[in-house]
Amino acid sequence: MKKAVISVGHSILKNGMCTSASGVVNEYQYNKALAPLLKVYLEKNGWKADVIVCPEKKFASKEEEKSYKLPLINQGGYDLALELHLNASDGTGHGAEVYYKTETGKAYAQRVQKKLAGVFRDRGAKKEDHLYFLNGTKPAAILVESFFCDNKGDCELGKDMKKVAKLIADGIAGK
Ligand SMILES: [Zn+2]
Repeated sequence: MKKAVISVGHSILKNGMCTSASGVVNEYQYNKALAPLLKVYLEKNGWKADVIVCPEKKFASKEEEKSYKLPLINQGGYDLALELHLNASDGTGHGAEVYYKTETGKAYAQRVQKKLAGVFRDRGAKKEDHLYFLNGTKPAAILVESFFCDNKGDCELGKDMKKVAKLIADGIAGK
């Protein structure tokens, strides 16, 4: 049985500040709610899945997110590590994109992107060499930017979280 780890991007720092973007919806809060749904749909597809959320109001800086998550991911024996994010710009940017670094990551990224592009504008699966989540993880890894958290139309489409979770899960499982 294949095993995935779902990481919720960002955290809430000791001082109460959230390290994520916020617009019509808050990126971190949205993905914290999406992650358990994604786990359910992955399990329906025959995968095992764990969710990683950073402890809230514990970290002094966002750099601690990385040192918290990477050991959990790299010692977990996972086939796939994915991190959930939402994009942000000036309110006009919209659509889904999925980042990868390796060839195994690319296959997952392309499948998830294809699913998300059935609902959101298709910004493509993109190779990216500058993200710690892709550079520091041992399993195949993807970083999913499901839509733009500061775009009204995207947030309307993203309201159906079960649908978004199912799209990502089906993309991962190749359904
Ligand atoms: Zn983010």
